[in-house]
Amino acid sequence: MYDDNHLATRLRAASLGETDRLFAIAGFGHPLSYEALFAAAERMAAALADAGVKPGDRVAVQVEKSLETIELYIGTVLAGGVFLPLNTAYTAAELDYFISDAEPAVVVCDPAREAEITPLAKGAKVLTLDARGHGTLRDAADAAEPGFAAVPRGAEDLAAILYTSGTTGRSKGAMLTHRALASNSETLRDTWRFTADDVLIHALPIFHTHGLFVATNVTLFAGASMIFLPKFDAEAIVAALPKATALMGVPTFYTRLLEHPGLTREAVANMRLFISGSAPLLADTHERWRARTGHAILERYGMTETNMNTSNPYEGERRAGTVGFPLPGVELKITDPESGETLPQGEIGLIEVRGPNVFSGYWRMPEKTKEELRDTGFFITGDLGVIDADGYVSIVGRSKDLIISGGFNVYPKEIEALIDDLPGVVESAVIGLPHPDFGEGVAAVVVAEKGAALDEAAVLAALAPQLARYKQPKRVFFVDELPRNTMGKVQKKALRDEFAETFAA
Ligand code: AMP
Repeated sequence: MYDDNHLATRLRAASLGETDRLFAIAGFGHPLSYEALFAAAERMAAALADAGVKPGDRVAVQVEKSLETIELYIGTVLAGGVFLPLNTAYTAAELDYFISDAEPAVVVCDPAREAEITPLAKGAKVLTLDARGHGTLRDAADAAEPGFAAVPRGAEDLAAILYTSGTTGRSKGAMLTHRALASNSETLRDTWRFTADDVLIHALPIFHTHGLFVATNVTLFAGASMIFLPKFDAEAIVAALPKATALMGVPTFYTRLLEHPGLTREAVANMRLFISGSAPLLADTHERWRARTGHAILERYGMTETNMNTSNPYEGERRAGTVGFPLPGVELKITDPESGETLPQGEIGLIEVRGPNVFSGYWRMPEKTKEELRDTGFFITGDLGVIDADGYVSIVGRSKDLIISGGFNVYPKEIEALIDDLPGVVESAVIGLPHPDFGEGVAAVVVAEKGAALDEAAVLAALAPQLARYKQPKRVFFVDELPRNTMGKVQKKALRDEFAETFAA
Protein backbone atom coordinates (compact mmCIF):
# COMPACT_ATOMS: atom_id res chain seq x y z
CA MET A 1 0.00 0.00 0.00
CA TYR A 2 1.30 3.46 -0.95
CA ASP A 3 4.37 1.52 -2.10
CA ASP A 4 6.37 4.31 -3.70
CA ASN A 5 5.80 6.80 -0.89
CA HIS A 6 8.43 6.09 1.78
CA LEU A 7 6.70 7.54 4.84
CA ALA A 8 3.10 6.81 3.85
CA THR A 9 3.86 3.09 3.36
CA ARG A 10 5.30 2.93 6.85
CA LEU A 11 2.50 4.95 8.44
CA ARG A 12 0.05 2.39 7.06
CA ALA A 13 1.99 -0.88 7.36
CA ALA A 14 1.03 -1.88 10.92
CA SER A 15 -2.71 -1.36 10.46
CA LEU A 16 -3.08 -2.66 6.91
CA GLY A 17 -5.77 -5.33 6.69
CA GLU A 18 -6.85 -4.74 10.30
CA THR A 19 -10.28 -3.57 9.28
CA ASP A 20 -11.75 -3.24 12.78
CA ARG A 21 -8.73 -1.70 14.47
CA LEU A 22 -9.39 1.68 16.07
CA PHE A 23 -6.93 4.55 15.69
CA ALA A 24 -8.84 6.74 18.15
CA ILE A 25 -10.92 4.93 20.72
CA ALA A 26 -12.53 7.88 22.44
CA GLY A 27 -11.70 11.37 23.46
CA PHE A 28 -13.44 14.21 21.86
CA GLY A 29 -15.60 13.45 18.90
CA HIS A 30 -16.12 10.00 17.54
CA PRO A 31 -14.06 6.81 17.61
CA LEU A 32 -12.12 6.48 14.35
CA SER A 33 -10.99 3.23 12.74
CA TYR A 34 -7.73 2.93 10.81
CA GLU A 35 -9.75 2.21 7.66
CA ALA A 36 -11.70 5.43 8.10
CA LEU A 37 -8.57 7.43 9.01
CA PHE A 38 -6.71 6.46 5.84
CA ALA A 39 -9.81 6.72 3.62
CA ALA A 40 -10.28 10.27 4.92
CA ALA A 41 -6.55 11.02 4.48
CA GLU A 42 -6.79 9.89 0.85
CA ARG A 43 -9.70 12.25 0.28
CA MET A 44 -7.70 15.05 1.96
CA ALA A 45 -4.85 14.27 -0.44
CA ALA A 46 -7.25 14.51 -3.39
CA ALA A 47 -8.56 17.85 -2.10
CA LEU A 48 -5.00 19.18 -1.75
CA ALA A 49 -4.06 18.00 -5.24
CA ASP A 50 -7.20 19.71 -6.59
CA ALA A 51 -6.13 22.87 -4.78
CA GLY A 52 -2.87 22.78 -6.69
CA VAL A 53 -0.47 20.97 -4.33
CA LYS A 54 2.32 19.37 -6.34
CA PRO A 55 5.17 17.18 -5.05
CA GLY A 56 7.41 19.23 -2.77
CA ASP A 57 4.83 22.00 -2.21
CA ARG A 58 4.35 23.21 1.32
CA VAL A 59 0.97 22.95 3.06
CA ALA A 60 0.94 25.45 5.92
CA VAL A 61 -1.52 24.55 8.65
CA GLN A 62 -2.63 26.66 11.61
CA VAL A 63 -5.66 24.94 13.09
CA GLU A 64 -6.96 23.65 16.41
CA LYS A 65 -6.20 20.08 17.35
CA SER A 66 -8.59 17.56 15.78
CA LEU A 67 -8.50 14.10 14.24
CA GLU A 68 -9.09 15.81 10.89
CA THR A 69 -5.73 17.56 11.38
CA ILE A 70 -4.09 14.13 11.55
CA GLU A 71 -5.97 13.18 8.37
CA LEU A 72 -4.62 16.38 6.81
CA TYR A 73 -1.06 15.51 7.87
CA ILE A 74 -1.28 12.03 6.33
CA GLY A 75 -3.11 13.45 3.31
CA THR A 76 -0.28 15.92 2.73
CA VAL A 77 2.26 13.09 2.81
CA LEU A 78 0.11 11.06 0.37
CA ALA A 79 -0.14 14.05 -1.97
CA GLY A 80 3.66 14.36 -1.97
CA GLY A 81 3.47 17.68 -0.12
CA VAL A 82 5.46 19.03 2.81
CA PHE A 83 3.43 19.38 6.02
CA LEU A 84 4.10 22.66 7.79
CA PRO A 85 2.22 22.97 11.09
CA LEU A 86 2.14 26.32 12.87
CA ASN A 87 1.55 27.11 16.53
CA THR A 88 -2.06 28.18 17.08
CA ALA A 89 -0.80 31.09 19.18
CA TYR A 90 0.96 32.82 16.26
CA THR A 91 -0.35 36.28 15.43
CA ALA A 92 -1.02 37.62 11.93
CA ALA A 93 2.39 39.35 11.89
CA GLU A 94 4.13 36.07 12.73
CA LEU A 95 2.10 34.18 10.14
CA ASP A 96 3.07 36.77 7.57
CA TYR A 97 6.73 35.86 8.14
CA PHE A 98 6.14 32.10 7.99
CA ILE A 99 4.01 32.30 4.85
CA SER A 100 6.47 34.64 3.09
CA ASP A 101 9.37 32.39 4.06
CA ALA A 102 7.78 29.02 3.27
CA GLU A 103 5.77 30.05 0.20
CA PRO A 104 3.14 27.35 0.65
CA ALA A 105 0.77 26.30 -2.14
CA VAL A 106 -2.06 25.95 0.39
CA VAL A 107 -2.72 27.54 3.77
CA VAL A 108 -5.23 25.80 6.05
CA CYS A 109 -6.57 27.93 8.89
CA ASP A 110 -9.47 28.18 11.29
CA PRO A 111 -12.55 29.69 9.61
CA ALA A 112 -12.53 32.40 12.29
CA ARG A 113 -9.16 33.64 10.98
CA GLU A 114 -9.80 33.25 7.27
CA ALA A 115 -10.45 36.97 6.64
CA GLU A 116 -7.29 37.95 8.52
CA ILE A 117 -5.06 35.33 6.87
CA THR A 118 -6.28 35.53 3.25
CA PRO A 119 -4.46 38.83 2.54
CA LEU A 120 -1.21 37.25 3.85
CA ALA A 121 -1.52 34.15 1.68
CA LYS A 122 0.23 35.67 -1.36
CA GLY A 123 -1.20 33.44 -4.02
CA ALA A 124 -1.58 30.36 -1.83
CA LYS A 125 -5.04 28.85 -1.74
CA VAL A 126 -6.69 29.32 1.67
CA LEU A 127 -8.84 26.48 3.00
CA THR A 128 -10.44 26.18 6.43
CA LEU A 129 -10.78 23.55 9.16
CA ASP A 130 -12.25 24.21 12.60
CA ALA A 131 -11.83 22.42 15.91
CA ARG A 132 -14.75 20.10 15.06
CA GLY A 133 -13.16 19.21 11.73
CA HIS A 134 -15.54 21.32 9.59
CA GLY A 135 -14.59 23.87 6.95
CA THR A 136 -13.90 24.30 3.25
CA LEU A 137 -11.08 21.75 3.32
CA ARG A 138 -13.35 19.12 4.79
CA ASP A 139 -16.07 19.97 2.24
CA ALA A 140 -13.58 19.56 -0.59
CA ALA A 141 -12.35 16.27 0.91
CA ASP A 142 -15.88 14.95 1.29
CA ALA A 143 -16.59 15.78 -2.35
CA ALA A 144 -13.36 14.15 -3.59
CA GLU A 145 -13.12 10.72 -5.16
CA PRO A 146 -11.99 8.02 -2.72
CA GLY A 147 -8.86 5.95 -3.29
CA PHE A 148 -6.24 8.60 -4.06
CA ALA A 149 -3.08 6.99 -5.45
CA ALA A 150 -0.14 8.06 -3.28
CA VAL A 151 2.35 10.34 -5.02
CA PRO A 152 5.75 8.60 -5.17
CA ARG A 153 8.26 10.10 -2.71
CA GLY A 154 11.67 8.75 -1.77
CA ALA A 155 13.46 8.55 1.56
CA GLU A 156 15.36 11.79 0.95
CA ASP A 157 12.33 13.84 -0.09
CA LEU A 158 10.93 16.34 2.39
CA ALA A 159 7.88 15.30 4.40
CA ALA A 160 7.65 18.23 6.81
CA ILE A 161 9.06 21.58 7.81
CA LEU A 162 8.76 22.55 11.46
CA TYR A 163 9.75 26.02 12.52
CA THR A 164 11.87 26.23 15.65
CA SER A 165 10.48 28.42 18.41
CA GLY A 166 13.09 31.06 17.65
CA THR A 167 13.68 32.51 21.10
CA THR A 168 16.75 34.26 19.72
CA GLY A 169 16.54 35.72 16.26
CA ARG A 170 14.28 34.54 13.49
CA SER A 171 12.50 31.26 13.59
CA LYS A 172 14.11 28.67 11.32
CA GLY A 173 12.31 26.02 9.29
CA ALA A 174 13.80 22.58 10.03
CA MET A 175 13.51 20.39 6.92
CA LEU A 176 12.60 16.80 7.78
CA THR A 177 12.76 14.02 5.23
CA HIS A 178 10.61 10.92 4.91
CA ARG A 179 13.60 8.94 6.18
CA ALA A 180 14.20 11.16 9.23
CA LEU A 181 10.60 10.80 10.41
CA ALA A 182 10.16 7.13 9.51
CA SER A 183 13.45 5.93 10.97
CA ASN A 184 12.89 7.70 14.28
CA SER A 185 9.31 6.44 14.59
CA GLU A 186 10.48 2.87 14.01
CA THR A 187 13.26 3.24 16.56
CA LEU A 188 10.98 4.72 19.21
CA ARG A 189 8.26 2.11 18.63
CA ASP A 190 10.78 -0.67 19.13
CA THR A 191 12.69 0.95 22.00
CA TRP A 192 9.52 1.67 23.96
CA ARG A 193 7.87 -1.64 22.90
CA PHE A 194 4.75 -0.14 21.35
CA THR A 195 2.41 -2.75 19.83
CA ALA A 196 -1.11 -2.93 18.46
CA ASP A 197 -2.29 -3.59 22.04
CA ASP A 198 -1.27 -0.15 23.25
CA VAL A 199 -3.61 2.73 23.98
CA LEU A 200 -1.81 6.05 24.23
CA ILE A 201 -3.26 9.09 25.98
CA HIS A 202 -2.60 11.95 23.56
CA ALA A 203 -3.01 15.36 25.20
CA LEU A 204 -0.16 17.24 23.49
CA PRO A 205 -0.48 19.91 20.81
CA ILE A 206 0.06 18.55 17.30
CA PHE A 207 1.89 21.53 15.80
CA HIS A 208 5.07 20.43 17.62
CA THR A 209 7.38 17.45 17.10
CA HIS A 210 6.40 15.85 20.42
CA GLY A 211 2.66 15.54 19.76
CA LEU A 212 2.87 15.18 15.99
CA PHE A 213 5.80 12.91 15.37
CA VAL A 214 6.66 11.22 18.66
CA ALA A 215 3.13 10.54 19.89
CA THR A 216 1.15 10.25 16.65
CA ASN A 217 3.72 8.53 14.47
CA VAL A 218 4.65 5.98 17.13
CA THR A 219 0.94 5.11 17.50
CA LEU A 220 0.57 4.75 13.72
CA PHE A 221 3.79 2.78 13.33
CA ALA A 222 2.63 0.33 15.98
CA GLY A 223 -0.96 0.15 14.72
CA ALA A 224 -1.89 1.11 18.28
CA SER A 225 -4.84 3.19 19.47
CA MET A 226 -5.05 6.52 21.19
CA ILE A 227 -7.33 8.47 23.45
CA PHE A 228 -7.13 11.81 21.72
CA LEU A 229 -7.74 14.79 24.00
CA PRO A 230 -7.94 18.41 22.84
CA LYS A 231 -5.42 19.56 25.42
CA PHE A 232 -3.97 18.78 28.82
CA ASP A 233 -6.71 18.34 31.40
CA ALA A 234 -5.77 16.46 34.56
CA GLU A 235 -9.36 15.35 35.11
CA ALA A 236 -9.70 13.89 31.60
CA ILE A 237 -6.34 12.13 31.84
CA VAL A 238 -7.12 10.57 35.21
CA ALA A 239 -10.44 9.39 33.75
CA ALA A 240 -8.63 7.88 30.74
CA LEU A 241 -5.90 6.06 32.71
CA PRO A 242 -7.84 2.81 33.35
CA LYS A 243 -8.44 2.37 29.59
CA ALA A 244 -4.91 3.31 28.53
CA THR A 245 -1.45 1.74 28.57
CA ALA A 246 0.86 4.72 27.92
CA LEU A 247 1.13 8.47 28.36
CA MET A 248 3.51 10.88 26.68
CA GLY A 249 3.80 14.27 28.33
CA VAL A 250 5.89 17.29 29.10
CA PRO A 251 7.08 17.56 32.72
CA THR A 252 4.24 19.90 33.70
CA PHE A 253 1.75 17.11 32.87
CA TYR A 254 3.36 15.06 35.61
CA THR A 255 3.57 17.81 38.23
CA ARG A 256 -0.08 18.73 37.62
CA LEU A 257 -1.25 15.12 37.70
CA LEU A 258 0.52 14.69 41.04
CA GLU A 259 -1.80 17.38 42.41
CA HIS A 260 -4.85 15.31 41.41
CA PRO A 261 -6.24 13.04 44.14
CA GLY A 262 -7.42 10.55 41.49
CA LEU A 263 -3.82 9.61 40.66
CA THR A 264 -3.54 6.32 42.54
CA ARG A 265 -1.97 2.91 42.05
CA GLU A 266 -5.40 1.52 41.20
CA ALA A 267 -5.97 4.19 38.53
CA VAL A 268 -2.71 3.28 36.76
CA ALA A 269 -3.08 -0.49 37.09
CA ASN A 270 -3.49 -0.89 33.31
CA MET A 271 -0.64 1.51 32.42
CA ARG A 272 2.74 0.18 31.34
CA LEU A 273 4.66 3.35 30.43
CA PHE A 274 4.90 7.04 31.29
CA ILE A 275 7.23 9.05 29.04
CA SER A 276 8.44 12.62 29.57
CA GLY A 277 10.33 15.03 27.37
CA SER A 278 10.61 18.47 25.75
CA ALA A 279 11.88 20.02 29.00
CA PRO A 280 13.80 18.75 32.04
CA LEU A 281 11.89 16.54 34.46
CA LEU A 282 12.87 17.38 38.02
CA ALA A 283 14.34 14.44 39.93
CA ASP A 284 11.85 15.31 42.66
CA THR A 285 8.92 14.80 40.25
CA HIS A 286 10.41 11.47 39.17
CA GLU A 287 10.65 10.33 42.78
CA ARG A 288 7.22 11.54 43.80
CA TRP A 289 5.68 9.84 40.74
CA ARG A 290 7.35 6.58 41.58
CA ALA A 291 6.24 6.74 45.21
CA ARG A 292 2.66 7.50 44.21
CA THR A 293 2.18 5.18 41.22
CA GLY A 294 4.98 2.62 41.39
CA HIS A 295 6.14 3.70 37.89
CA ALA A 296 9.52 5.20 36.97
CA ILE A 297 8.88 7.89 34.35
CA LEU A 298 10.97 7.25 31.24
CA GLU A 299 12.68 10.51 30.24
CA ARG A 300 13.92 11.07 26.71
CA TYR A 301 15.57 13.95 24.84
CA GLY A 302 15.02 15.34 21.38
CA MET A 303 14.35 18.45 19.42
CA THR A 304 12.58 19.74 16.32
CA GLU A 305 15.72 19.41 14.18
CA THR A 306 16.63 15.88 15.19
CA ASN A 307 13.50 14.05 16.31
CA MET A 308 14.48 11.98 19.38
CA ASN A 309 18.13 11.40 20.25
CA THR A 310 18.31 9.63 23.60
CA SER A 311 16.07 7.66 25.90
CA ASN A 312 16.27 6.06 29.28
CA PRO A 313 16.06 2.29 28.94
CA TYR A 314 12.79 0.39 28.76
CA GLU A 315 14.39 -2.33 30.82
CA GLY A 316 17.07 -1.32 33.28
CA GLU A 317 17.50 1.74 35.43
CA ARG A 318 15.64 4.89 34.41
CA ARG A 319 17.92 7.38 36.05
CA ALA A 320 16.25 10.55 37.33
CA GLY A 321 17.84 13.77 36.08
CA THR A 322 19.27 12.04 32.99
CA VAL A 323 17.92 11.52 29.49
CA GLY A 324 19.41 8.04 29.17
CA PHE A 325 21.44 6.65 26.29
CA PRO A 326 21.68 7.50 22.58
CA LEU A 327 18.96 5.65 20.66
CA PRO A 328 20.00 2.83 18.32
CA GLY A 329 21.48 4.36 15.18
CA VAL A 330 22.13 7.73 16.83
CA GLU A 331 25.70 8.83 17.56
CA LEU A 332 26.14 11.39 20.32
CA LYS A 333 29.29 13.18 21.44
CA ILE A 334 30.19 16.01 23.79
CA THR A 335 32.46 18.61 22.24
CA ASP A 336 34.44 21.65 23.25
CA PRO A 337 32.39 24.72 22.23
CA GLU A 338 35.51 26.52 21.02
CA SER A 339 37.55 23.83 19.28
CA GLY A 340 34.83 21.33 18.38
CA GLU A 341 37.08 18.54 19.74
CA THR A 342 35.41 15.61 21.49
CA LEU A 343 35.74 15.96 25.26
CA PRO A 344 36.57 13.14 27.69
CA GLN A 345 33.73 11.41 29.53
CA GLY A 346 32.57 13.46 32.51
CA GLU A 347 33.25 16.88 31.02
CA ILE A 348 30.51 19.35 30.15
CA GLY A 349 30.31 20.49 26.54
CA LEU A 350 28.06 20.85 23.53
CA ILE A 351 25.93 17.88 22.55
CA GLU A 352 26.36 16.89 18.91
CA VAL A 353 24.31 14.17 17.24
CA ARG A 354 24.39 12.28 13.96
CA GLY A 355 21.99 9.72 12.54
CA PRO A 356 19.17 9.11 10.08
CA ASN A 357 16.89 11.07 12.44
CA VAL A 358 18.71 14.38 11.91
CA PHE A 359 17.13 17.08 9.69
CA SER A 360 18.62 18.04 6.36
CA GLY A 361 19.04 21.76 6.98
CA TYR A 362 17.16 24.99 7.61
CA TRP A 363 14.76 26.02 4.87
CA ARG A 364 16.37 28.69 2.69
CA MET A 365 19.07 29.43 5.31
CA PRO A 366 22.26 27.86 3.94
CA GLU A 367 24.53 29.90 6.23
CA LYS A 368 22.65 28.95 9.40
CA THR A 369 22.66 25.33 8.22
CA LYS A 370 26.43 25.47 7.73
CA GLU A 371 26.96 26.91 11.21
CA GLU A 372 25.06 24.14 12.96
CA LEU A 373 25.23 21.09 10.71
CA ARG A 374 28.81 19.94 10.17
CA ASP A 375 30.05 18.43 6.89
CA THR A 376 30.53 15.21 8.85
CA GLY A 377 26.77 15.02 9.45
CA PHE A 378 26.98 15.96 13.15
CA PHE A 379 24.42 18.54 14.26
CA ILE A 380 25.49 20.98 16.97
CA THR A 381 22.36 20.91 19.12
CA GLY A 382 23.07 24.00 21.21
CA ASP A 383 22.41 21.94 24.35
CA LEU A 384 25.14 21.52 26.93
CA GLY A 385 25.48 18.06 28.35
CA VAL A 386 27.66 15.52 30.09
CA ILE A 387 27.93 11.73 29.97
CA ASP A 388 28.39 9.86 33.24
CA ALA A 389 30.58 6.81 33.81
CA ASP A 390 27.69 4.48 32.97
CA GLY A 391 26.90 6.26 29.70
CA TYR A 392 23.80 8.15 30.83
CA VAL A 393 23.53 11.58 29.21
CA SER A 394 22.42 14.61 31.24
CA ILE A 395 21.36 17.97 29.82
CA VAL A 396 22.97 20.85 31.65
CA GLY A 397 21.08 23.58 29.78
CA ARG A 398 21.02 25.48 26.53
CA SER A 399 24.39 26.95 25.60
CA LYS A 400 22.74 30.34 25.22
CA ASP A 401 21.61 30.12 28.85
CA LEU A 402 25.19 29.54 30.02
CA ILE A 403 26.26 32.39 32.30
CA ILE A 404 29.74 33.85 32.01
CA SER A 405 30.43 35.87 35.14
CA GLY A 406 33.81 37.52 35.53
CA GLY A 407 35.15 35.16 32.85
CA PHE A 408 33.98 32.01 34.62
CA ASN A 409 31.40 29.61 33.18
CA VAL A 410 28.39 29.13 35.42
CA TYR A 411 25.97 26.32 34.57
CA PRO A 412 22.50 27.34 35.78
CA LYS A 413 21.41 23.76 36.38
CA GLU A 414 24.02 23.20 39.10
CA ILE A 415 22.65 26.11 41.10
CA GLU A 416 19.01 25.34 40.31
CA ALA A 417 19.44 21.81 41.66
CA LEU A 418 20.73 23.14 44.99
CA ILE A 419 17.97 25.72 45.28
CA ASP A 420 15.30 23.16 44.38
CA ASP A 421 16.52 20.98 47.25
CA LEU A 422 15.91 23.70 49.85
CA PRO A 423 12.82 23.21 52.02
CA GLY A 424 9.90 25.30 50.79
CA VAL A 425 11.12 25.61 47.19
CA VAL A 426 8.91 24.40 44.33
CA GLU A 427 11.35 25.22 41.53
CA SER A 428 13.83 27.80 40.34
CA ALA A 429 15.48 29.32 37.30
CA VAL A 430 18.97 30.74 37.40
CA ILE A 431 19.83 33.41 34.84
CA GLY A 432 22.65 35.75 33.89
CA LEU A 433 21.88 39.48 33.90
CA PRO A 434 24.00 42.30 32.48
CA HIS A 435 26.48 43.41 35.16
CA PRO A 436 28.83 46.40 34.92
CA ASP A 437 31.82 44.60 36.52
CA PHE A 438 31.33 40.93 35.74
CA GLY A 439 29.73 41.06 32.30
CA GLU A 440 26.95 38.93 33.67
CA GLY A 441 25.78 38.58 37.25
CA VAL A 442 24.07 35.44 38.52
CA ALA A 443 20.47 35.84 39.69
CA ALA A 444 17.93 33.27 40.85
CA VAL A 445 14.19 33.34 40.33
CA VAL A 446 12.42 31.11 42.82
CA VAL A 447 8.90 29.75 43.18
CA ALA A 448 8.26 29.04 46.87
CA GLU A 449 5.60 26.81 48.33
CA LYS A 450 2.58 28.68 49.63
CA GLY A 451 3.24 29.90 53.17
CA ALA A 452 6.92 28.89 53.12
CA ALA A 453 9.13 31.03 55.33
CA LEU A 454 11.75 31.68 52.72
CA ASP A 455 13.37 34.91 51.72
CA GLU A 456 16.34 36.11 49.74
CA ALA A 457 18.71 36.07 52.71
CA ALA A 458 17.77 32.49 53.61
CA VAL A 459 18.41 31.22 50.07
CA LEU A 460 21.74 33.03 49.83
CA ALA A 461 22.83 31.77 53.24
CA ALA A 462 21.97 28.19 52.30
CA LEU A 463 23.93 28.37 49.04
CA ALA A 464 27.03 30.14 50.38
CA PRO A 465 28.75 27.07 51.87
CA GLN A 466 27.96 24.94 48.82
CA LEU A 467 29.07 27.06 45.89
CA ALA A 468 32.18 28.89 44.78
CA ARG A 469 31.74 32.61 45.22
CA TYR A 470 31.43 33.35 41.48
CA LYS A 471 28.53 30.89 41.17
CA GLN A 472 26.54 32.31 44.05
CA PRO A 473 23.52 34.37 42.99
CA LYS A 474 23.86 38.05 43.74
CA ARG A 475 20.09 38.46 43.87
CA VAL A 476 17.14 36.13 44.48
CA PHE A 477 13.67 37.03 43.24
CA PHE A 478 10.42 35.31 44.18
CA VAL A 479 7.63 34.79 41.65
CA ASP A 480 4.32 32.89 41.74
CA GLU A 481 5.24 30.80 38.72
CA LEU A 482 7.93 30.58 36.06
CA PRO A 483 6.96 31.69 32.55
CA ARG A 484 6.57 28.59 30.34
CA ASN A 485 5.62 27.98 26.73
CA THR A 486 3.06 25.39 25.63
CA MET A 487 5.69 22.65 25.67
CA GLY A 488 6.48 23.33 29.32
CA LYS A 489 9.83 24.99 28.66
CA VAL A 490 10.84 27.74 31.06
CA GLN A 491 11.24 30.97 29.08
CA LYS A 492 14.52 32.25 30.47
CA LYS A 493 14.63 35.05 27.95
CA ALA A 494 11.41 36.46 29.42
CA LEU A 495 13.01 36.35 32.88
CA ARG A 496 16.20 37.99 31.62
CA ASP A 497 14.10 40.77 30.08
CA GLU A 498 12.04 41.23 33.23
CA PHE A 499 15.04 41.54 35.54
CA ALA A 500 17.43 43.12 33.02
CA GLU A 501 18.04 46.30 35.03
CA THR A 502 18.93 44.51 38.29
CA PHE A 503 22.65 45.24 38.19
CA ALA A 504 22.48 48.37 36.05
CA ALA A 505 25.28 50.78 36.98
P1 AMP B 1 12.01 21.69 20.60
O1 AMP B 1 12.76 21.87 19.35
O2 AMP B 1 10.93 22.71 20.80
O3 AMP B 1 11.50 20.30 20.75
O4 AMP B 1 13.02 21.94 21.79
C1 AMP B 1 14.16 21.15 21.91
C2 AMP B 1 14.89 21.47 23.18
O5 AMP B 1 14.14 21.08 24.31
C3 AMP B 1 16.19 20.71 23.28
O6 AMP B 1 17.21 21.28 22.50
C4 AMP B 1 16.44 20.77 24.77
O7 AMP B 1 17.01 22.01 25.12
C5 AMP B 1 15.02 20.70 25.35
N1 AMP B 1 14.69 19.34 25.79
C6 AMP B 1 14.02 18.38 25.15
N2 AMP B 1 13.90 17.27 25.91
C7 AMP B 1 14.53 17.53 27.07
C8 AMP B 1 14.77 16.80 28.27
N3 AMP B 1 14.31 15.57 28.46
N4 AMP B 1 15.48 17.42 29.24
C9 AMP B 1 15.95 18.67 29.09
N5 AMP B 1 15.75 19.41 28.00
C10 AMP B 1 15.05 18.86 26.99
